[in-house]
Amino acid sequence: MQMYDAIVIGARCAGASTALLLARQGHRVLVVDRASFPSDVISTHFLWPHGMSYLNRWGLLDEVLAVTPAHTTVEVVNDGIRLSGSVPPELLREYFRDLHGDDSGVVQSYASVRRRVLDQILVDAAAGAGAEVRTNVTVRELIVEDGQVVGIRGRGVDGEPVEERARIVVGADGRNSFVARALDLPKYDERPRCTFAYWSYWSGFDLGPAQLHRRGRLACAVVPTNFDQNMVLVWGPSEWSREFRADVPGNYQKALDFVSPELGEVVRLKGTRQERIYGTLDQSAFLRPLHGPGWVLVGDAESAKDQCTAIGMTHAFRDAELVSAALDGWLRGTASIDEAMTGYESRRRSQNAAAYHDYVCTLAEMRPYRHDELQLFVALRGNQQETDRFIATHADVAPVSEFFQASNLFLLNDAAKESSADHPVFADFAETSRMYQQNLFA
Ligand SMILES: Cc1cc2nc3c(=O)[nH]c(=O)nc-3n(C[C@H](O)[C@H](O)[C@H](O)COP(=O)(O)OP(=O)(O)OC[C@H]3O[C@@H](n4cnc5c(N)ncnc54)[C@H](O)[C@@H]3O)c2cc1C
Repeated sequence: MQMYDAIVIGARCAGASTALLLARQGHRVLVVDRASFPSDVISTHFLWPHGMSYLNRWGLLDEVLAVTPAHTTVEVVNDGIRLSGSVPPELLREYFRDLHGDDSGVVQSYASVRRRVLDQILVDAAAGAGAEVRTNVTVRELIVEDGQVVGIRGRGVDGEPVEERARIVVGADGRNSFVARALDLPKYDERPRCTFAYWSYWSGFDLGPAQLHRRGRLACAVVPTNFDQNMVLVWGPSEWSREFRADVPGNYQKALDFVSPELGEVVRLKGTRQERIYGTLDQSAFLRPLHGPGWVLVGDAESAKDQCTAIGMTHAFRDAELVSAALDGWLRGTASIDEAMTGYESRRRSQNAAAYHDYVCTLAEMRPYRHDELQLFVALRGNQQETDRFIATHADVAPVSEFFQASNLFLLNDAAKESSADHPVFADFAETSRMYQQNLFA
């Protein structure tokens, strides 16, 4: 039996990327997935510029851009208050220097690349780098000897047994991680309040860069994607999901019309839906332990959170770079496994990472924005630099603590060039707030 340096379970954003990077470093890698490719998963696919930058650092961005429309700004519209901007390049470079020690390959573009497109590119790149890729293989058992994970047992598509051994097993097998269940790993910092999310693919209109709209407790996004289509997504608080599900197509359009009447009209009058409406209710957030004897987790397996900031794929790429750099040192013998894993853990469990996890979980509760929060968005309209920094904060490029510190908010309000009286949401705020609490779908 061949002894691998690493076996990676799961071959998508986290797993294929980890396998690719380890194989490029010259290590013997096996990556298995029960799925076959190309295929989608329950996920939309928006990439912030650091996500795009990872693909560029790995030499894969041109292949993605050959079939995927990209843009250089995003629009964020909260209760009709429109902000447009982009994560500043200097913050992107700082992000890569802080996390990975170099800022090569930074790009300032955004794109939404279908998983059936992206995951295939990642899997092919891993195979091209020398990783052995086996699809249609379901892992059913971890081989544990003397308390240490040393391999996997599973079945191929025709039921044939699979058994392989490695120095380390990487769990990149998503939020319902088999590895975590097999090792009986606890979940902690669980946040059950999350969003329901439903989306589909539409042809017939071109609205330019990605738009993210929010009104009251509901939100929607429209982003250009592959095959000349737009991905149109609606989301809201999970406690409204039962009523939403009673009529998915009707309530999908109802949500669009409520959050952005203009967008709702474009979709209704010009759009042709090309696929069914996909959806999910299970997005509660949690963390799991990162590593142990013979195993390490990356991507959603280790840290799952709500889709509301569209960051999971970019975080999976981040984990792949961090874990492959850490394992490379150990596999080469320049660091002990403890040093390697402690280094990985300290970057993954930084104070900034904890603050961002909390930010996403709080947003996912989908409570309506308060009066002062909406005033902040008005103030930002007069200040492009701070608007860009807000977008960078929302995307986990700049630390949450630095944007939302009291002195910054005070300065921002001071710099407001526009009066909140110009925006209808403030006209009868008490009445609007009451209305926002009513379940639109009941
Ligand atoms: C509704 C929704 C919308 C989202 N939108 C976005 C977005 O716009 N942008 C963004 O960045 N993120 C988004 N995310 C988050 C994103 O989908 C995840 O963070 C990302 O897919 C995590 O990648 P991963 O590789 O860790 O896991 P996954 O993509 O879940 O891949 C895990 C793989 O492991 C395999 N596997 C599992 N168990 C086994 C086993 N026992 N044996 C073999 N193989 C196994 C599975 O087949 C799967 O292919 C969204 C998520 C949801 C739910």
